[in-house]
Amino acid sequence: MKFQEFSFHPRIESGIQAVGYVHPTPIQEKAIPVVLEGRDLIGVAQTGTGKTAAFVLPILQRLAEGERGHVRALILAPTRELAEQIHQVVGALGKELGIRSIAAYGGVKKRPQAAALRRGAEVVIACPGRLLDLHGDRAIDLSRVEVLVLDEADRMCDMGFLPDIRRILGLLPQNRQTLFFSATMPPEIRRLAGSILRDPATVEVDAAAPAKTVSHAFYPITEGRKRDLLVALLQGPATGRVLVFTRTRSRTQSLASFLSRAGFAAAAIEGDMSQRDRQEALDGFRSGKYAVLVATDVAARGIDVEDITHVINFDMPDSVDAYTHRVGRTGRISKSGQAFSLSAPSDRLLRSWVEKAVGKPIESRRLPGFDYGGPVRAGEAQATGAGAARFARRRAYLRR
Ligand code: AMP
Repeated sequence: MKFQEFSFHPRIESGIQAVGYVHPTPIQEKAIPVVLEGRDLIGVAQTGTGKTAAFVLPILQRLAEGERGHVRALILAPTRELAEQIHQVVGALGKELGIRSIAAYGGVKKRPQAAALRRGAEVVIACPGRLLDLHGDRAIDLSRVEVLVLDEADRMCDMGFLPDIRRILGLLPQNRQTLFFSATMPPEIRRLAGSILRDPATVEVDAAAPAKTVSHAFYPITEGRKRDLLVALLQGPATGRVLVFTRTRSRTQSLASFLSRAGFAAAAIEGDMSQRDRQEALDGFRSGKYAVLVATDVAARGIDVEDITHVINFDMPDSVDAYTHRVGRTGRISKSGQAFSLSAPSDRLLRSWVEKAVGKPIESRRLPGFDYGGPVRAGEAQATGAGAARFARRRAYLRR
């Protein structure tokens, strides 16, 4: 189908044309009519499926009519990057309508955000903590919000935002439309959705399984040979735009420095970095200045970079959800991508779960010509052995 069939406001139509969307993605096709009707919605979709426009477009349609100058739509997101990205989408699609949106997140000064809010905006995209902070300062009035979006609700809960979310819910009018997006629906997320949505419609695309456009391979390796294997992969099969994941912030930084010393245009992105440094890394990755971006799971949320050819799990993630999120950064909107996982013997359990989620066996590869018996790198943090215990807690997820 084509976007015209939704009969959006002509100024929204021009926004859609300006960003170059022609056909709605599956989540858009299913969610947009429901949201336009005014119903509450549970959208089970990963980043990369087009879920942002699936809620932004119908919200703009609502905002095209009625009063301006006060906050009518509130979008909660777990990270600054995701908030910023949604803000860009609202800006691009809502440009011709003259809708004003503000992104409010921590790690940067509060005053400019408060000042912008006082000047007036119809859409606020916020991380929960900063929003409460601004509300405490009386910089934002939430009493006339008509639509609430919880984006990446599973991740917000993982990050401990649930109490903040509950407080925010208490500040909003009862009579509102609520849209709830989550990549996964484990029991605690289902409960949360059940407690805040009214008679929701559920739309689901490829629930919690990695996108079909991604091919997967494991590269079994010992911890001490990982760095050399990564270098060999970056010289060989993974020569495109590569996102590398590690388990911790310190491993992210030390791996990015190691790769830079080894001659790769590499940068790190992790939550301890200043907002400016994170933006620089992200912009550099987007523009091609950096071919390799090394990231932690949390910092990688909301990384919306086109044409990531490879995702490499330098450290395996600690759950299938996290695996799905990571590899969702490649193979977006029907382009193909590759996910390589350097897997240690202790990752066996997670490997089998990932295979279940993907629905078929995943090839274990040996890189031809690589010296598997080469020197073990000293000074490298050993992988923690806590993985198995953490995976066990996630077992229920696979049994859904
Ligand atoms: P999202 O899942 O919202 O992060 O979107 C992933 C990417 O898909 C973004 O780069 C969007 O600009 C792009 N996108 C969203 N909807 C469409 C569409 N209908 N056609 C083409 N690209 C789209």
